[in-house]
Amino acid sequence: MWGSVVFTGRFRQTVYKRYREINGVMVPVADPQTGYYSAYTYDAFSRDDLIPSLVQLVVRASRKGNQNRECKKWIKTNGFLVQRICEPPSKGESLEVFWQEAVKLTKLWCMYTEAVNRDLEALKRYVSIKIERLTLDEIKNEEFLWGKGNDGRVCVSSSLFESEVAFGVKLKEVKEDFLAPYQYAVLHYVAGEVSYNIGNVRIVYDRLTKHENSDTDTFSIQAYLEPASLLQALYLWFFQLLTEKRKVCPTCWAPFTPRRRDQVFCSDGCRFTHHTRKRRGQQRKERF
Ligand SMILES: [Zn+2]
Repeated sequence: MWGSVVFTGRFRQTVYKRYREINGVMVPVADPQTGYYSAYTYDAFSRDDLIPSLVQLVVRASRKGNQNRECKKWIKTNGFLVQRICEPPSKGESLEVFWQEAVKLTKLWCMYTEAVNRDLEALKRYVSIKIERLTLDEIKNEEFLWGKGNDGRVCVSSSLFESEVAFGVKLKEVKEDFLAPYQYAVLHYVAGEVSYNIGNVRIVYDRLTKHENSDTDTFSIQAYLEPASLLQALYLWFFQLLTEKRKVCPTCWAPFTPRRRDQVFCSDGCRFTHHTRKRRGQQRKERF
């Protein structure tokens, strides 16, 4: 159909066999015998475990405080995150930059997880909702409605007189159903940030094919969205996910399609793990 454009994402990621850390930068190292950089590649869009594993890394390293070791391990397994494919790999990747970008993506992923899982207490950390009547000038100023607050929080003012605040919720109903405006604000914020972080993506093609039969002859190319870095590929994948009707499991951080309204975890295993961790956490608190 005209107007409906769907392109496949494509990103060939290189993972080197040997790396060395030089002054906080991970640099690929050539094989001492052959002098070649041995490496293998994989298609990032066939790996939906990449964002969950990055989020797990940040959560784990924040708890244990061994971020450099965790980042190095991830690069050795999955390749560079931030380095663009046009840059020579010998430049390597700064572990500090890797960590900052991983944290940024993790924060957005957690916000998304909390919004879709109706975690109101968590959402209140980011969103300030002001219930007040604004002047017409203030309403005209979109920034004020969906902008970032001074403290870096998402700021939403729910006072479009009697008009809709979020997902069909009217201003006078906001007190009864507080959750919707919070979800609305956070999901808007996440979608905006993900879009911003994607930036510009190249559209490329390969394979020109001629289709011929006794009646007609036509031609087609195979088109792809081709990000310049793994990070851009992950944001693109995140954005794609926002168009789907999914939730994210707060135990393994993987997206899943829920079967019930109150389903929070992707599986019984993850639900069990969550409750075991929670129990252990409480025991720890009691001990100290
Ligand atoms: Zn799970």
